[in-house]
Amino acid sequence: MKVILASRNPDKLRELQALLGIPGLQLLPVSAFQVPEVEEDGDTFEANAVKKARITAKSTGHWALADDSGLEVYALDMKPSVYSARFAGRHGDYAANNRKLLELLRNVSDRRARFRCVIALSSPAGRCRTVEGVCTGRIADAPRGLHGFGYDPVFIPAGHRKTFAEMSPEEKNRLSHRFRAAWAARQAWGSLLSGPDLPDWPD
Ligand code: IMP
Repeated sequence: MKVILASRNPDKLRELQALLGIPGLQLLPVSAFQVPEVEEDGDTFEANAVKKARITAKSTGHWALADDSGLEVYALDMKPSVYSARFAGRHGDYAANNRKLLELLRNVSDRRARFRCVIALSSPAGRCRTVEGVCTGRIADAPRGLHGFGYDPVFIPAGHRKTFAEMSPEEKNRLSHRFRAAWAARQAWGSLLSGPDLPDWPD
């Protein structure tokens, strides 16, 4: 089945295709279609993922998949959440985001945090389903490691001593919220996505 990925990031397309590992699924980049830029202005990961998938599906007439993810820190009332990419102001300034996070947590003993990823799948008619993946852990005292992106240098997954940025991509991928969300997507939608294109969700 053909599905459009509602992301302009080619790394995400490659990563999700590999993580989903669904034979017969052809993920296509949204950049190959005329789709308006979608503002991620929802209060939740679910709202943003659903909005991106639905607008992409409705404006192309194809099934569409979208994801949204971020970090939730317990001592900060689960922020930065949907503001993860622009926590320190400028979108995607990873170093500034990590500095701000460590500063806010200075002398805070509760370091618990989790990454969450929500994947939404919309039919061409705009009917959506979602799955999610969570990776729990804690925030390190200082950044460590050179791999990955975003909050990887300050996030230590539960049961480990290394930050995500100190792990190889393969090691991180076995634990990550995105991996778990993709696993849930495969369980929930695997047979639908490996089959022929359908007009809407089967009842
Ligand atoms: P998006 O869902 O790819 O737009 O991610 C939103 C933001 O959440 C990113 O800019 C990162 O700051 C953060 N984030 C999401 N997933 C990860 C991850 O696996 N490692 C580190 N940071 C992440």
